[in-house]
Amino acid sequence: MRSTMPDYPLTIQHFLWRSTTLFPGKEIVTRREQGYHRYTYREFGERVAQLAHGLRELGIGPGDRVATCAWNNYRHLELYFAVPCTGAVLHTLNPRLFPEHLEFIVNDAEDRLVFVDASLVPALARIAGKMPSVRQFVCLSDGPPPESPLTPMLSYEDLLRDKPKTYEWPVIDELDAAAMCYTSGTTGKPKGVVYSHRSTFLHTFGAGLSDCIGLTERDCLLPVVPMFHAMAWGQPYVATMVGATQALPDRFLDPASLVELIRQEGVTVAAGVPTVWIALLQYLEKTGTRLPSVRTVVCGGSALPPALMEGMARQGLRMLHAWGMTETSPLGSVGVVKSTLGKTQEDEMRVRLKQGLPSAGVEARLVSLDTGKDLPWDGQTIGELQVRGPWVATGYYRGADPDRFTADGWLRTGDVVTIDPEGYIQIADRVKDLVKSGGEWISSVELESALMGHPKVLEAAVVGVPHPKWQERPIAFVVPKPDHRGAVTQEEILGFLRPKVAKWWLPDEIRFIDEIPKTSVGKFDKKLLREQAVTPAVAGVRPSE
Ligand code: ADP
Repeated sequence: MRSTMPDYPLTIQHFLWRSTTLFPGKEIVTRREQGYHRYTYREFGERVAQLAHGLRELGIGPGDRVATCAWNNYRHLELYFAVPCTGAVLHTLNPRLFPEHLEFIVNDAEDRLVFVDASLVPALARIAGKMPSVRQFVCLSDGPPPESPLTPMLSYEDLLRDKPKTYEWPVIDELDAAAMCYTSGTTGKPKGVVYSHRSTFLHTFGAGLSDCIGLTERDCLLPVVPMFHAMAWGQPYVATMVGATQALPDRFLDPASLVELIRQEGVTVAAGVPTVWIALLQYLEKTGTRLPSVRTVVCGGSALPPALMEGMARQGLRMLHAWGMTETSPLGSVGVVKSTLGKTQEDEMRVRLKQGLPSAGVEARLVSLDTGKDLPWDGQTIGELQVRGPWVATGYYRGADPDRFTADGWLRTGDVVTIDPEGYIQIADRVKDLVKSGGEWISSVELESALMGHPKVLEAAVVGVPHPKWQERPIAFVVPKPDHRGAVTQEEILGFLRPKVAKWWLPDEIRFIDEIPKTSVGKFDKKLLREQAVTPAVAGVRPSE
């Protein structure tokens, strides 16, 4: 029997309608070089319509790829809506990628237009003349575009000027592409993930649930996670759907700027990677600043170190740990605590440090890396995490890397995890980051968490280096807190680790450095560290005997 319900298309157009109709007076605020830009959802909606007319004028039709190379700002948000709502495909470019990757991505996606922030013109100009599919660049700036080899280039404000403030949005098939994102190439050549309207719609609902990130109309969202990476974890769509206030930091991501924005706008929910929060925490501790408006600090992208969660708790800030991937739209699991767990503070902390329960809409399984068989959820057995669901990719654009998907429709995440009997996922490592020592595995994530618990340590990253006897051994790169530079020794660090980890897990060497190199999305750059690890240690660093 068929239902009496319609085949109502699940598209991003609904969020646009909802925010502009129900919350026209709510604000979207963007940090600028000088001061702030602010306007309402009503004005936002009018400009989205004007942009849609502009896209049509530039000859953009259904399915055409429209790239953006931009920070988190109101113009980028307008593109997040106008492009997919006209039936075209939004393609976010990460300006921090190596030029070869950027060039590959633009050409692989065959972008027709590129909208670029004035501040990112130099980054994109590195590949000027190597984007044959691009017919037009549009500069996201107030004044005329800067001089550059990116031609022809017109100004965004000129494109919108005098256009009608309403638009007849076309009927869109919910399974059509709405947006695409490339994996940041941490693990090889970037691969395209194409989101549909339907997957984005459902992900927005899933991410909006209270047992996920749970934004409401009463919230003010600060997405520090860039809109050019994994769709800013879907937060721009969730915030717009519920009519939350949005506080967009543009490129001003230093702790002082973030604190100013949080305090001025009364931010309640902020989202970013651990390295952002480590820097913020240090700033709060140094300046004695408090952020009473913030109710949740969402942390994902890499493992949340316990010392960070504890330090933030001392500042009255509650962290919410989330796991995801570009391939999972990206929200896959969230560290919410069941009412039956976490009776004591320590219990609760232990649960919240895990990557969490698969979010509603995502199914998970634990699979042996050797046999491919299902493994028990006992919190001990380590295997690969595989996931599936309506917003989990079942293939890459142009069929790249088909081995990442199983024949029965699951994504091989490449993450090595345990799942406990309650269903909580805990990530031990990425497959390629596990240190294989003497036939056993050492979790670099666990070692890093332990190292970052040392009171004198700001950041730590662990990589495996080839070893003639043990196959691989761990080396730790450690950044002391500024007050302790030059005043912390390898023995002190190893002594701190000894009671916390098995003897054979102890790093063979602790290398003190000033800063851990980061990837284009702010994660520890293990590829680079592995290269550095095999070069001899610099003076002052003593390998262990
Ligand atoms: P890239 O693959 O280029 O780094 P992604 O952002 O898609 O870009 O990375 C997804 C990966 O990031 C996951 O497979 C996982 O290894 C890691 N990751 C994401 N969130 C967490 C988390 N909360 N804890 C540990 N690792 C995480």
